[in-house]
Amino acid sequence: MSDQDWQDYSIETQGIRAGQHRTPEGEHSDAIFPTSSYVFDSAEEAAGRFSGKLAGNIYSRFTNPTVNAFERRLAIMEGAERAMATSSGMAAINTVCLGLLSAGDHVVCSRSVFGNTALMFKNIMHKFAIETTFVDLDDITAWQAAVQDNTRFFFLETPSNPMGTLADIKQLADLAHAHNALLIVDNVYCTPALQKPLSLGADLVVHSATKYLDGQGRCVGGAIVGDNALIEEKLYPILRTTGPTMSPFNAWVFQKGLETLSLRMEKHCSNALAIAQWLEEQPSVETVHYTGLQNHPQHALAKEQQSGFGGIVSFTVKGGKKGAWAVIDATQMISITANLGDVKSMITHPSTTTHGRLTEDERVQAGITDSLLRLGVGLENVDDIKADLERGLRGL
Ligand SMILES: *Cc1c(COP(=O)(O)O)cnc(C)c1O
Repeated sequence: MSDQDWQDYSIETQGIRAGQHRTPEGEHSDAIFPTSSYVFDSAEEAAGRFSGKLAGNIYSRFTNPTVNAFERRLAIMEGAERAMATSSGMAAINTVCLGLLSAGDHVVCSRSVFGNTALMFKNIMHKFAIETTFVDLDDITAWQAAVQDNTRFFFLETPSNPMGTLADIKQLADLAHAHNALLIVDNVYCTPALQKPLSLGADLVVHSATKYLDGQGRCVGGAIVGDNALIEEKLYPILRTTGPTMSPFNAWVFQKGLETLSLRMEKHCSNALAIAQWLEEQPSVETVHYTGLQNHPQHALAKEQQSGFGGIVSFTVKGGKKGAWAVIDATQMISITANLGDVKSMITHPSTTTHGRLTEDERVQAGITDSLLRLGVGLENVDDIKADLERGLRGL
């Protein structure tokens, strides 16, 4: 079946069957192609491949059948023409920057993005005379006010991590397009199983495959998803020349991860909602941030643009940093780690880990106080997760 045919299937089926590269051996599961280069039948064929006149593999920095199978499956799941895999989520964002920006250009970026994404714009792109204005994710007038003649794109994550603030993707896509800018959405939190930003007007989606796409905390990888023409002209040449390549082994792991993505996301969502509701009832918990809660200020928007509320719940406890650390240290089962999107539940203290390199001011603006804890709710039995959190809260 062609990739086009798979577009009509539901995402559960696409995740399991689309984009497989089956060899003449007839293997049922996907094959792995751990090869750096490929052989050609003749000098003429080699010349044809290198010049781009003939289709086919050349060198695994930019062509590999396993990587390609993962790319095709992910593209179909996001409802896109093309995906391009990268060595990590940060490599995907860096590739977008190198491909779309030149010295003198400008970016508008949500204040509430992954810590390294903010640093990429603020420190690294800044070295190459690319300036970034950071704005509040949910403040459309701030995005409007930040646009300049040289703005090339808007960049955001929705819902934001760890606070669970939303952007109205349609509204921001319209605003970006009215100013000849692109909208780029980091879809790590929801994955295509819960949200399809391209269908809401975004131009490119970026992923850290490290998180839910793998889903079991094994490999680091990333991807960029969108129009074939945009990727072919602006981004593929960066991959080919600068080499932020995904390994075939990692691509195979991610390909298998996509097979269970929808099922896992459903369970992450139901466990997270149960935990968020339970936390709200605990006297030592001050606030709970989860878009699935009725009292979340953007609950209605979340219902409209997402098909689920995701697996990240954050909450504040009494006692500031000391209290937050005490909760973490009193848990027994939940992993103290920052890698969300795993079957294993995890807990972190954002202000001293994932967001520790931001200035105090930047943290306050992003709502990351010392008493904030972030949970990546996993797939263990929800009563066991609650029991461990209860143990944690008793540590206060
Ligand atoms: C983890 C993460 C990234 C970076 O991805 P890596 O694979 O760790 O390089 C980017 N954006 C978000 C939202 C993330 O959670």
